Amino acid sequence: MDLSLSDDELAFRKAVRTLICDAFPAGERYDGGDAHERRWHAALLERGWAANKWPVAFGGPGWTATQSFIWERETAAAGLPAQVGGMGMGMLAPILFAYGTPEQQARFLPDILQNRVRWCQGYSEPGAGSDLASLRTQAVLHNDHYLVDGEKLWTSGAHEADWMFCLTRTSDEPKRQAGITFLLLDMRDPGVTVRPIISIDGRHAFNGVTFDRVRVPTENRVGREGEGWTVAKGLLTHERTGQAFVSLSRDLLRRLREVARTLPGSEGGSLMEDVGFARRMSWAEVELQALEITELRTLSEVAAGGAPGAQSSLLKLKGTDIVQRMTEFFVECAGPYAAPWFPQNTVPNTTVGPQWAQAETVRYLEGRAASIAGGSDEVQRNIIAKHVLGL
Ligand SMILES: Cc1cc2nc3c(=O)[nH]c(=O)nc-3n(C[C@H](O)[C@H](O)[C@H](O)COP(=O)(O)OP(=O)(O)OC[C@H]3O[C@@H](n4cnc5c(N)ncnc54)[C@H](O)[C@@H]3O)c2cc1C
Repeated sequence: MDLSLSDDELAFRKAVRTLICDAFPAGERYDGGDAHERRWHAALLERGWAANKWPVAFGGPGWTATQSFIWERETAAAGLPAQVGGMGMGMLAPILFAYGTPEQQARFLPDILQNRVRWCQGYSEPGAGSDLASLRTQAVLHNDHYLVDGEKLWTSGAHEADWMFCLTRTSDEPKRQAGITFLLLDMRDPGVTVRPIISIDGRHAFNGVTFDRVRVPTENRVGREGEGWTVAKGLLTHERTGQAFVSLSRDLLRRLREVARTLPGSEGGSLMEDVGFARRMSWAEVELQALEITELRTLSEVAAGGAPGAQSSLLKLKGTDIVQRMTEFFVECAGPYAAPWFPQNTVPNTTVGPQWAQAETVRYLEGRAASIAGGSDEVQRNIIAKHVLGL
């Protein structure tokens, strides 16, 4: 793949940098808070780049693979998310393009684009994670609506979500996958109860959700009844492609270097000048570059009309490994200052040692979940063994 940039591509890169500088002038860093998210999203909308991975027919900018690559690189270097809009933008929208009716597309896509509505993903259940086809949440058809009863688990963002896209069982076929139906469910329905689950990093990110006779109109079914497994499989590959975490790893690498320059090394200079440390950092960077190129190759296949397929498992597996290694480097750098961290101690300026040590220890703990969320490492290895290596 030729990665030298043409004049047009250089002009595009300049336009990207201008947009970033206009949105966050004077080197102001994106802090991930609501105000910064709104500002960045507004800038993207105005430029027509908010849905930068969507097809042109649905309002995407129609970038080439190289333009997407430039975009990912430049936003990562500036510490900005490549897109805003969470699971609606990145996961549900591609499903609606492929399986949604024109009415569903017209109803849901504009709110996703404007980031007016938050979505969560209701797949996993107690007893149905890796073996998702054993899910038991039941949807029973009554004329023009389904009544949904059951329980979902580990639902990220359910406490803030307006809607859930979820998998339900509509029949007990011998082949379990054939009895699954994909529904869009309004979280404000009185039959929905969300209870928080606090994770090892002390945050409230995911939840258990129960359904008690939740009413879902049939017009909110995506695909045909019993076709939910096919719909979900398409969505999972999109989810995993988005989990190469290249931008995050690039940002971690940049900050890691900044931190290592401020710490004393064992050879008289800074930690960054220690040969052993520098070698490990360089090795991680080389692997990150290889991952980035693999992601770019996948993106270019998707841009040409292909589906990400089993390659996305490879991206997820390797991306998780690299991001976890970066966070481990940070904990190593923090040394004893990583130890006093505990969940209730999240008020700024209350810890011993540098502030970054606390934030990065939280990130390290949070990063453990990456090898489970979106399909565990073992499951990704099984997929690669079967579909990529043909074992
Ligand atoms: C941070 C986070 C966010 C999440 N967010 C969501 C969400 O928003 N929506 C949602 O629906 N789900 C979500 N999940 C759930 C996630 O999809 C499941 O945790 C995951 O699919 C694994 O299922 P499980 O937890 O039931 O583990 P299990 O499937 O019970 O697995 C337990 C262990 O057995 C191994 N294992 C299982 N099957 C095999 C096999 N065939 N071969 C080899 N090893 C195997 C697994 O690798 C794992 O180590 C989230 C999880 C996390 C950690």
